[in-house]
Amino acid sequence: MNTSRIIVALDVPSPEQAWAIASKLEPKSCRVKVGKEMFVAAGPGLVERLTAAGFEVFLDLKFHDIPNTVASACRAAARLGVWMLDVHAFGGREMMQAAREGIEGASHKPLLVGVTVLTSMSESQLREIGVGATPMDAVANLSELAAQSGLDGVVCSAQEAAMLRARFDAPFKLVTPGIRPAGTSADDQHRITTPAQAIVSGVDYLVIGRPITRAADPQAALEAINAEIDGVSRV
Ligand code: C5P
Repeated sequence: MNTSRIIVALDVPSPEQAWAIASKLEPKSCRVKVGKEMFVAAGPGLVERLTAAGFEVFLDLKFHDIPNTVASACRAAARLGVWMLDVHAFGGREMMQAAREGIEGASHKPLLVGVTVLTSMSESQLREIGVGATPMDAVANLSELAAQSGLDGVVCSAQEAAMLRARFDAPFKLVTPGIRPAGTSADDQHRITTPAQAIVSGVDYLVIGRPITRAADPQAALEAINAEIDGVSRV
């Protein structure tokens, strides 16, 4: 059984590079994330190949469209055998419920999570698109809507995790990027959190890219993080 909380973001330009990294990782000691760039470049073939090699895949395509279209896209993703997929909570209740219904009959039902407010959106940018709430309040509202719509959890920043964990008990999943093990480069991330801090805040899954994918030995970097959070418990 895979007990790792790490999702390795395979953010590289080509499927060959993604495969080269994946082949250095043990499928049972992590999950992997395929995002828009890789999916557009490589198509479903890479997801099928990763799945066939034993990897559980988070297909991070952040669907946002009319309910019928999102339901069909989620159904197609479930048929691919992905472990987790996501939709924008901004799509609203009907769209999220349709997403849920879209994967209901799947033989391998993926976890379905909602993206709340992108961390790239500031309060003034939210106001510009007609959202008067602060980012934190919008995250709380959208997470509530996601939970009511039957989603399994949300993608959130580490700064929001403790607030969300106080409102939503397990098994509601919190999935969080922006994680950097102590002593590693922040790259272009501004507000970073260590793996242990994220777990203490109530995060279930940590999305980590470059600290693992650019390490000389990705499996060793992954194992070091797994060891860092092993035994860390939530507050
Ligand atoms: O390499 P790094 O660990 O920074 O990768 C983080 C991953 O999480 C990337 O795939 C990035 O797109 C994603 N992500 C993020 N911040 C968000 C949402 C997603 O870093 N707010």
